[in-house]
Amino acid sequence: MKLKTISLIILLLLNHLIWSQKTTVDSVKTNNGYILIQPISHASLVVTFNNKTILIDPSGKEKIYTNLKSPDIILITDIHGDHLNLKTLNAIDTSNTVFIVPEAVANKLQKKYSSQVTILKNRQGIHRFNMFIKAIPMYNLPEDANSKHPKGRGNGYLLTIDNKRIYISGDTEDILEMRILQNIDIAFICMNLPYTMDINQAANAVLDFQPKIVYPYHYRGKNGYSDIAKFKKLVNTKNKNIEIRIHNWYPN
Ligand code: ZN
Repeated sequence: MKLKTISLIILLLLNHLIWSQKTTVDSVKTNNGYILIQPISHASLVVTFNNKTILIDPSGKEKIYTNLKSPDIILITDIHGDHLNLKTLNAIDTSNTVFIVPEAVANKLQKKYSSQVTILKNRQGIHRFNMFIKAIPMYNLPEDANSKHPKGRGNGYLLTIDNKRIYISGDTEDILEMRILQNIDIAFICMNLPYTMDINQAANAVLDFQPKIVYPYHYRGKNGYSDIAKFKKLVNTKNKNIEIRIHNWYPN
């Protein structure tokens, strides 16, 4: 067996030990190793590279997170309970964690985290652990006073890890800032009504910016789950080269 294959297996095993939960771990090869991707639930996921762990929007049942080693970074996109959940955060060992969040989230975090928080406004970026994290706007259309996600409050994120670029949409519609993204290797795309966008908007946007791999996530809406199989079909009918990775983001 090649050394790289062996090291990937070891990585996956280690990750399995970190996460007692039975969830999938995907890997994407970079120039210098593997990025591990673990869908947790709804908007929550873990990205690991070079022994650094980024936990995104931890929410939901606390027991999922109790065995997790302290994440190096927690990224939070917005203030709603499916992204920022103080109870869930309290169940996580955050002793070695840097929080990277929009200002609206920082204002709601408990004071005990304040020395660990870095605020990013839309379009600002920061280097941490050899990664670059940039905040991308996320918002509803049209932009009006009733918007569930007004422009400027929340952050989508663009992570540059080794030679790969990972886009995490947050709660948004098919905005221009998404459609003009370039050279995206992995994209996490929300699709749920009435909070974000429908599968047609999502497919249309994805066909525009053509990420190499797409994870439909955040797809439970007011009237149940969005049809992510149909989303895949909509994309692949027009572009076979975009790999759509279907996972169950709602175990139990
Ligand atoms: Zn949400």
